Amino acid sequence: MTVFANTYKIGIAGDPELPGHRQVLPKRRSTRGYPDVMPDRFFAPGSLDGPVIELSPDESRHMAGVLRKTPGETVVVFNGAGAAAEAVVEAVGKRACSVRIVQVLPTAPQRSPGIQIASAAPKGDRIRWLIEKATELGADRWTPLQLTRSVVDPGDGKLERLRQTVIAACKQCERNRLMEIAAATTWPEWLAEASAHGTVIVAHPTGVLTTEAAERLEVDLRRAGHAAIAIGPEGGFTEDELEAAVRAGALVVNLGPQILRIETAAIAALAWLRLAFP
Ligand code: SAH
Repeated sequence: MTVFANTYKIGIAGDPELPGHRQVLPKRRSTRGYPDVMPDRFFAPGSLDGPVIELSPDESRHMAGVLRKTPGETVVVFNGAGAAAEAVVEAVGKRACSVRIVQVLPTAPQRSPGIQIASAAPKGDRIRWLIEKATELGADRWTPLQLTRSVVDPGDGKLERLRQTVIAACKQCERNRLMEIAAATTWPEWLAEASAHGTVIVAHPTGVLTTEAAERLEVDLRRAGHAAIAIGPEGGFTEDELEAAVRAGALVVNLGPQILRIETAAIAALAWLRLAFP
């Protein structure tokens, strides 16, 4: 019988008297003294070597104006390219804050397949919602698709603002690598690029069920190590677009009995793949 010192005492590993659902949970790492609360996170692109890093005006505003940090408090900085470091607040000014690096934090090796998502751009604020959730669900990249029935063309200004949404989501969800927002791409271009790099999945109401799709994808996806998902516009993919996808080797997948909005379908597809292939 082993009691893990580094776990919450809600179960004892290997005790045959305990019901099977009693789990021993590993503790979360924390630099703040509480096992389950991570320090506030700030985005600082570039090298995290330090010793002192100046934050951007946006991040300084967040640190000084919103979170009211004071010198000496522990925070985490991440560079958006996969690295993060524990740091202490050095100086606090309204538009100019700095932190002193304490130690670079270890990064977990990536096990699950990389996932990129492409979709017709949804209307209004729904696009921001899609970007936030796709970032949380670990998508590496989002590409706005130019499809026959696309109605929204997100301009460069909007795409730039969406990059701020990615940063905000990465701060909240403890992600150290930013989700890339690609330039608008045509269907043939996207299919060619995506099928050259991995498994392509197209969401469409007449596709195969996710259970069947998972079986078919298991070997392919583990080998390729990368999946690309496409979601159509509110009017759906045209027959020609679906045929082109099948010719490029895509698997057409159904996401359930309801017709989902673009952003809901994107989140459902990402959540399914993330959980089916952890
Ligand atoms: N009227 C369209 C549906 C558009 S919904 C049609 O009948 O095809 C917008 C996009 O979300 C679709 O193109 C598809 O990619 C995805 N989607 C929505 N509901 C879905 C479902 N139940 N299964 C698979 N994909 C779905």
